[in-house]
Amino acid sequence: MADIYIKNGFLLTMRGEGLGTIEDGALAVEGQDIVAVGKTHELDKKYGNSKRVIDAKSKAILPGFVDVHIHTGHTIIRGEAQDVPEIEWMLKAMAPFGKYITPQHSIAAGALGVLEGVKSGVTTYGEIGINEGQVAEKVFIPSGVRANIADTVNEIGPNSRPDANKLYIFDTSLGEQKMKAAIDLVERWDGAGDGRISCIFSPHGADMMSKDLLLRVKEEAVKRGKLSHIHVAQGGREAIQIKLRHHTTTIKYLDSLGFLDDKVIAAHCHQTTDDEVSIIAERGVRYASCPASIALIDGIVPPLALFLQRGGRYAGLGSDQAPGSTGHNMLVGMKMAALLNKVRHRDPTVLPAWQMLRIATIEGANTIGLGNKIGSLEKGKKADLIIMDLKAPHMVPTITRPVRNVAPNIVYYSRGDEVETVIVNGRFVVDGRRCVTLDEKEVMKKAQAAADEVTARAADDFMAADSYLAKAVKRGLL
Ligand SMILES: [Zn+2]
Repeated sequence: MADIYIKNGFLLTMRGEGLGTIEDGALAVEGQDIVAVGKTHELDKKYGNSKRVIDAKSKAILPGFVDVHIHTGHTIIRGEAQDVPEIEWMLKAMAPFGKYITPQHSIAAGALGVLEGVKSGVTTYGEIGINEGQVAEKVFIPSGVRANIADTVNEIGPNSRPDANKLYIFDTSLGEQKMKAAIDLVERWDGAGDGRISCIFSPHGADMMSKDLLLRVKEEAVKRGKLSHIHVAQGGREAIQIKLRHHTTTIKYLDSLGFLDDKVIAAHCHQTTDDEVSIIAERGVRYASCPASIALIDGIVPPLALFLQRGGRYAGLGSDQAPGSTGHNMLVGMKMAALLNKVRHRDPTVLPAWQMLRIATIEGANTIGLGNKIGSLEKGKKADLIIMDLKAPHMVPTITRPVRNVAPNIVYYSRGDEVETVIVNGRFVVDGRRCVTLDEKEVMKKAQAAADEVTARAADDFMAADSYLAKAVKRGLL
């Protein structure tokens, strides 16, 4: 007898090098942990009378998705900052709204981001942002999900970036405040929520802080046995700053500092040459790739497949932020990542479905340092898992011979609403397609109200910034 017993399902365990498929599979959960994985006929006798038994016939059971790089605080500006030139994106499209987002708004946005993610099977959120302790307390812990969080450290104040083409003016006292907040977060929140919250460090990016502060954040992280999650080579804006300040490229600059190693999670890395991708792969850097977001913001395909081809060890998938084209839906994100990389390489064998599913689960967990705890369905791991219905018109047929088509169907055809059940740390978060830890209507209502407040305040700034998008508004095109 166990607390939860799921049987008769198509199990994708991620054990071994592939999907670790078990047809007619079953799994038992006691407390927070997976206690048995196997064939239904093997486990039925011991667990058939468990407290809650789920018949998963015609359903797939797989590890919950690990979103390795996300900013849920931006969820309320979905659809308001895209289709602009890359140089305009941060300062003319995002900033007019971002300026008016208060910590309260971020919490409303965070709940919406988690709701969207969890309903499409995301169980772990690799979030970096500000006031993450509050987001943990108000969103991640009560919603029942797992989160790997950091408070971002940078030296960027409200007046630091008057012009994207000129050197940013660093605010060193703000940098010190943020450094203190980052340490406080780790000391206060690491291990909270029954171990669901883990805290790491996040130097924002090489363009957003001095060399001294960048190295100090990394040192602090290493001293505490924590990873550093940093934006790297994220587009032309960063390239301009690094060239002006350090007369080189981001990768060469970071490598010259000895910064690039296996203690670093590097997000994006799309403003890179192929040789620079080899450098990050060779240094053992962990790569957080967000193809759907970066394609929309920068019009570039990040080098996810290339990183792996060049020997990169750990790579995970991130949704980044809702004004990117997946929202926080990793099922859509996997499809976008696979397609974009196939197109980048003009090679349809790149990132096959089985590999994409591993990247979104076990490899993502490895990337953020949680691979020993989550990411696969194995005895002794935490029970973070999802059940997907395979009996929707766009998912039928299910074939097991000569080829099992479940993984390709999930990666190329699913939309998110096939996710019926989500369990995190042994507790139900989604049950019968409904989030049972959050009041869905209330979350959407509060997020809408927050967005209404922000956009009312930001409207004049948005129009005055006169981005490509604002120009389209002025012409009455949308
Ligand atoms: Zn980011």
